[in-house]
Amino acid sequence: MGAEELYEVEFPPESIIRRRNNVESLKDLNGRDSYGGERTFNKSMSSRSEKATELLNQLVEFSALPEYLQDNSFILRHYRADWPLKHSLLSIFSMHNETFNIWSHLIGFLLFLGLTIYTAMHIPTIVEPSTLHKWQHEINDVMPSYLQLNEALSSCVPGTFDGIHCVQKPITRWPFFAFLGGAMFCMFASTMCHLLGCRSAKTFYLLMRLDYAGIATLIATSFFPPVYYSFMCNPALCKMYLGMITTMGVCSLLASMIPVFQTAEYRQVRAAVFCTMGLSGIVPCLHKIFLYHYEPLAYQAFNMEIFMGGIYALSALIYATRIPERWTPGTFDIIGNSHQLFHVLVVAGAYVHYHGGLVYLKWRDVQGCPVS
Ligand SMILES: [Zn+2]
Repeated sequence: MGAEELYEVEFPPESIIRRRNNVESLKDLNGRDSYGGERTFNKSMSSRSEKATELLNQLVEFSALPEYLQDNSFILRHYRADWPLKHSLLSIFSMHNETFNIWSHLIGFLLFLGLTIYTAMHIPTIVEPSTLHKWQHEINDVMPSYLQLNEALSSCVPGTFDGIHCVQKPITRWPFFAFLGGAMFCMFASTMCHLLGCRSAKTFYLLMRLDYAGIATLIATSFFPPVYYSFMCNPALCKMYLGMITTMGVCSLLASMIPVFQTAEYRQVRAAVFCTMGLSGIVPCLHKIFLYHYEPLAYQAFNMEIFMGGIYALSALIYATRIPERWTPGTFDIIGNSHQLFHVLVVAGAYVHYHGGLVYLKWRDVQGCPVS
């Protein structure tokens, strides 16, 4: 039985012909294929099966990809396509054009897992002793209201009030941990999408939805710390902004579930949806500065938000334009292409945002809200 016949028996002819014409590094110097041509195929059925599986798991060129994987025509080679689960999982340790994407967000996920543990264990849950002296003055100036004193004391750790000073309770941490959870979810979903998306069209579209849901979650939860801690002393504004961003996050999440949203033609639409979501953060940021223009820590957090916004804007621009690979297709297949730069910038932006979140905690832990 010739090699052509064997392939036709074991696999659908079209896919095999397509692969055979586009598989990388299959030809030896004599023009014989790298599995030894007919000599190897005549040895045994099991050997043929192994070789055929190997062939199936070869990297292929863009032109040989099934339609669902044809996303970026400027990345020419080193694609995995229709790989079994085991091979897809093990491909984390081999070199192909998704290796960097997998590792960049896996490392990002581990980084934020570490930051979450560090934050939970080392960022103080009880702040430095602070004084109620100012509040006492305010209370005495207005009237000796026991109601207000009780309200003030509710911010103290029980048993620490000595008549003037107390150890103040920290403000709530949930908005900060929501952001850390959003960052971890986004990076883990992305890692899974890049690692296992090569399995089949069904798996690919399922994981793409998860990936976009992760991006929407990261953007939405990124707003929680700045909005909550900026407006915590004004519950109406706090609820309004949190409601606004949560609604936008849910809408983006639902949009990302629509199949057409994941297609290559909708690349610009995807970028626009996520950019609009990100840009809406300008409103509460400016509002915060208007309210707290006298507060140095509010400005420090604002500067970090501008820096983070710049990083995210650059990442969206690179994502949408596919720079640099559009300039020299094939040069950045393995390293340096737009999606890889996008990944690095997402991790960098989220890391800057983490430090911005610490500034908010410091600000509100120390100052809290004035008793009025
Ligand atoms: Zn990605």
